[in-house]
Amino acid sequence: MTQPERKNFPRIATALLHLGLCLAGLTSAGCNLGETTTTTRPPTAPTTMSIQQLASRLQLRVVRCGKFVGELSDGQNSVIIIAAPHKRVLVNGRPLETNEPITATGSTIMVSTSLEKRIKQNLRPRNYKPTNTQNPVPAKPQNTPNGPIVVLDAGHGGKDTGAISAAGYREKDIVLNVTRLVAKQLRDSNVRVVMTRNKDVYVGLDRRVYIANTSKCVLFVSIHADAAANKTVRGFTVYVPRREKNNSPSHRVGKNVEQQLKGFTKNRGVRKHSKNLRVLENTNCPAMLIEMGYLSNRYEAARLSTYQTQQKIANSIATAILSYLK
Ligand SMILES: [Zn+2]
Repeated sequence: MTQPERKNFPRIATALLHLGLCLAGLTSAGCNLGETTTTTRPPTAPTTMSIQQLASRLQLRVVRCGKFVGELSDGQNSVIIIAAPHKRVLVNGRPLETNEPITATGSTIMVSTSLEKRIKQNLRPRNYKPTNTQNPVPAKPQNTPNGPIVVLDAGHGGKDTGAISAAGYREKDIVLNVTRLVAKQLRDSNVRVVMTRNKDVYVGLDRRVYIANTSKCVLFVSIHADAAANKTVRGFTVYVPRREKNNSPSHRVGKNVEQQLKGFTKNRGVRKHSKNLRVLENTNCPAMLIEMGYLSNRYEAARLSTYQTQQKIANSIATAILSYLK
């Protein structure tokens, strides 16, 4: 210690004493200090939100909010959210892969905030204008001017949802997806395709028959998914007109479909329906109605809701039709 340092010693000692007292004060006020720090920290962003909040962020309306299933819509888009344990998000009938939690709270359904962006990417644009909004006149046959015409009939639509699975999958959405995929494949093979509906719209049964009978089609194919009270029932069925004999063209193309779909699920065969189905009995060309599987069966419903399965079934139906047309 040098001379000047010794001179300053009392001052340094006083300063150290002060510092000690200050530290002692801070220690005794530790809880307050902690509290102050917590309240001044910026609040963390919430990671979940209710489907009502999600709807408002996406500019959609909540049109259905059940215990486990919620639906948001703006008339052009439909977003179905199914809470755990089934946990699914369907945007315009197409499943969205999701690992985020979706939970039913009893009063609403809570979703992860990160879902908003992903749903948004899959919504139709605001200015989306489907053709023929009022009158669903079939899309004109395309491609080859002299190619055969096939009428594809996606069952149900609009106010008629068709069967709904326990997890909320709707027949009208699934059959429209599959029908569109079949149409694409047939058109790619120069078949002229007329669709009785190409969007989520209600078309009456007689209107469907009228479209078929004025289109000069060589084949009418109606696409559906089944439901039964017995939840274990599963499998696909191909229905043909009751009036026809067993070796009719409808049977032949029905057998083709059976051949293609065999192995995918249980084969319930090519049959005549117990009831007179107008789209089969009143159409004046070979006709069949394909029930792809049972939405009342949890396992089958989950499969039918995926794009991969829809694509597989569409491939099979298109292949069967093309082989019949050859
Ligand atoms: Zn149906």
